[in-house]
Amino acid sequence: MSKDHLSTIAIHAGHHIDDTYGAVSMPIILSTTFERSASGEFVEGRDMYARSSNPNRKALETKLAAIEGGDHCISFSSGQAATMSIFHSLKAGDHLLIPDDIYYGTKVLIQQLYTRWNLQFDVVDMTDLNALRAAIKTNTALIWIETPSNPALKITDISEVLALAKSKNILTVCDNTWASSYYCRPLDIGVDAVMHSSTKYFGGHSDLTGGCIILKDRQEWYQNIRDFQVLGGAVPSAFDAWLLNRSLATYPIRMKAHGDNAMILAQYLHHHNKIEKVNYPGLKTNEYHAIAEKQMVNGFGGMLSILVKGGLEETLRLASSLKIFTHATSLGGVESLVDHRKSAEGEHSVSPANLLRVSPGIENADDLVKDFEQALDKM
Ligand code: PLP
Repeated sequence: MSKDHLSTIAIHAGHHIDDTYGAVSMPIILSTTFERSASGEFVEGRDMYARSSNPNRKALETKLAAIEGGDHCISFSSGQAATMSIFHSLKAGDHLLIPDDIYYGTKVLIQQLYTRWNLQFDVVDMTDLNALRAAIKTNTALIWIETPSNPALKITDISEVLALAKSKNILTVCDNTWASSYYCRPLDIGVDAVMHSSTKYFGGHSDLTGGCIILKDRQEWYQNIRDFQVLGGAVPSAFDAWLLNRSLATYPIRMKAHGDNAMILAQYLHHHNKIEKVNYPGLKTNEYHAIAEKQMVNGFGGMLSILVKGGLEETLRLASSLKIFTHATSLGGVESLVDHRKSAEGEHSVSPANLLRVSPGIENADDLVKDFEQALDKM
């Protein structure tokens, strides 16, 4: 199948017509166990036990690997479980570098759980290559990339980070949740593994929790992570695997609509006198535009964040005055959301009090602009 046509891959990869019923939509196989042969052997090509594998999960993993341009996908019950499998695969005493503007939960995960296991980490501004170079230690085993970052939409130059990492034999992982496989192809650039929270754009309807790791080659590391999935058991249910597989059929067309809406909203808000700043790499005035243009494909992604003129009170008022956008955490669903990150992240948050994260859905762009217009008029 042509690797260029994401919309064909998103429908057909891993899909086959069911042999028993001829069902065009794959049935959900809820069975936790599968019949063995008369000789007691497990049947070649069949599943054994649902924690180890399941037909819906296998179909999902085949599709996700194809969408991301990888060889293997390991799916999990959440994005955090996927991230955890990467940290689990390191060894005590290893050091990792994470970006200063990283998904809050990833940092909390390392801080609260993995430092107890003697996994060391430092936070670095990944957009500053000199700072990154200086932060590398002899025991640095992994560099974690997240671009655009959450919530400031800083863009890391992936190929520059890779050049540095490869020269020191350091593994790289890219959290591609925000950018999406539609707008960024980290495996093609040379990253060792990609992580997604499938709860976001892959799922796309705010109704399932999931995560995945996708790798190209890297057979040994893949097997290690697969062992954590199967033996550790943080697997998606058959129903979640089926639902996610179904959502993926519309992933490319949803992503185009998210990106188009993000660009239109960013341009509108950029010129509004009640908005201090719009963080969106698609704006020509954005400090990261040139790097984003170099490494992103098809556009600049579906996410933006804004700094409102004023403080906490004005920002929360804006969030609650919106009528189409719902003030709720998460992102990447068909319905538009805004999120006040400082209050979502809690006391250790470094997000500015006047920052709102904006996840445009796939509604009509004029309606989304008008929604901000009426809410900003009230301020
Ligand atoms: N990575 C990013 C960029 C996220 O935004 C999130 C969740 O918001 C996660 C990882 C964690 O994913 P999950 O909530 O599915 O565990």
